[in-house]
Amino acid sequence: MRDVRVRFAPSPTGPLHIGGVRTALYNYLFARKMGGKFILRIEDTDQGRFVPGAEQYIIDSLDWCGITFDEGVHVGGPHSPYRQSERKELYHQYADQLVKSGHAYYAFDSTEELDELRKEYESRKQTFQYGPATRLGLRNSLTLPVEKVQEMLDSGVHYVIRIRIPENEVIHVNDLIRGLVSVESSLLDDKVLYKSDGMPTYHLANVVDDYLMEISHVIRGEEWLPSAPLHVLLYRYLGWESVMPQFAHLPLLLKPDGNGKLSKRDGDRLGFPVFPLKWVDPKSGEVSSGYRESGYLPDAFMNMLALLGWHLDSDKELFSMNELVEAFSIDRCSKSGAKFDPEKAKWFNHHYLSAKPIKELASYLKTQIEGKNIEASEEYLEQVCSLVHERVVLIPDLYEQSHFFFHAPETYDEKVVAKVWKTDTPSLLLELIKVLQSIEPFMLVNLESGIKQFVQDKEIGMGQLMNPLRLCVVGTSAGPGMMDMMAVIGRQEIISRINLCIIKLNQ
Ligand code: GLU
Repeated sequence: MRDVRVRFAPSPTGPLHIGGVRTALYNYLFARKMGGKFILRIEDTDQGRFVPGAEQYIIDSLDWCGITFDEGVHVGGPHSPYRQSERKELYHQYADQLVKSGHAYYAFDSTEELDELRKEYESRKQTFQYGPATRLGLRNSLTLPVEKVQEMLDSGVHYVIRIRIPENEVIHVNDLIRGLVSVESSLLDDKVLYKSDGMPTYHLANVVDDYLMEISHVIRGEEWLPSAPLHVLLYRYLGWESVMPQFAHLPLLLKPDGNGKLSKRDGDRLGFPVFPLKWVDPKSGEVSSGYRESGYLPDAFMNMLALLGWHLDSDKELFSMNELVEAFSIDRCSKSGAKFDPEKAKWFNHHYLSAKPIKELASYLKTQIEGKNIEASEEYLEQVCSLVHERVVLIPDLYEQSHFFFHAPETYDEKVVAKVWKTDTPSLLLELIKVLQSIEPFMLVNLESGIKQFVQDKEIGMGQLMNPLRLCVVGTSAGPGMMDMMAVIGRQEIISRINLCIIKLNQ
């Protein structure tokens, strides 16, 4: 079998959508599983759509995801350069070859002429296609005398080179996910392959580079399936059919309700990111949120994406990157679109986050409190994290769920006050303070026995004491176990919060 070489070939036209990240992930998993090579190629031939910063964004995003490359624009390799704009000189000879063999031709029609035709067709409720049915009535090297064509080329007028789509042929694309896809050539148009400004279009550059870079499998999004018959023709006409890569077109990522392709707007509307990292549009300044900045872990993000379009027969949902590599195969990719579920994304993150070593969580929390000018020892942060880690879904939740470990509440939830603060509560809490002062050492077991004894002596229910006490310490009815919290926060601070609460609520 031929060596496996796959590529991710994004165009730097903006931030990388999570659908693109999934395409990169599947290529990566396949390359690693097969012991092959993975290449990052930047397809920037459409200069009109070039967006500054997009290429670096793509590299940074995949790096954050843990998707690594063997060759590519940022790591080099035997097929350098990996940026198409730097390979410009390469493509002309292949366009020429196609013209010489009669599979492509020069076309001189101006944009205005073609626009005019399009309008004309539209007015008859038809769609204009530059192709077998129309090309013989247009200004190209199939219709103009040879000398005239040469004269025009010599004079430097604007031209394009178009593929000459065959008439009445059925083109077959063998897709590893969809099986045999057959297309009537009459449905295709004579796509532009090359422009007189010296730039190839996507189709020519893509096929030439896949050939030169010895790509064995093209794994890409379903939106490229309509281009695949054209690519098959190009391989055939260039004499490369025997080394043509195998194709696998991945299903679309759908909106949460399944109605159509997942877009940035869905993310904005429903409040979840559709990009791996935060993106600031260089023109408009518009900011789009990213998974990283929203507090997702890359392993959770990868696990979630891997299952959108690929699955095993078993119910297993949690896969480390190594397990994914081990389990991945193209034939387990589905044909139908995968609904994106933002809640499931959170579910994965919660799982990965709560399973992280406490030390690592403490380091995240440290960064968060430092940003708020709060100081705490590592030991204290670890104690806090071990009490809240199960409640955390996104990284910022660490502080959200633990802020009361760092400062006394500034306000008290009125609903909770109304419910738990009775007329005899202050005197009860003042008595509790005496008990707390007597507990030696001030640690969990002693707190538990001391408070249990106090409640028994007073002949009250545990809740009668614990609910107002929690209000004093947290300000609401939320938070981890009261005794655990007291042991971590410490005697002085607990007593001072009780006193503060009594004063504030008595005002
Ligand atoms: N440049 C294309 C894109 O932006 C690549 C498609 C392909 O993988 O062939 O997605």
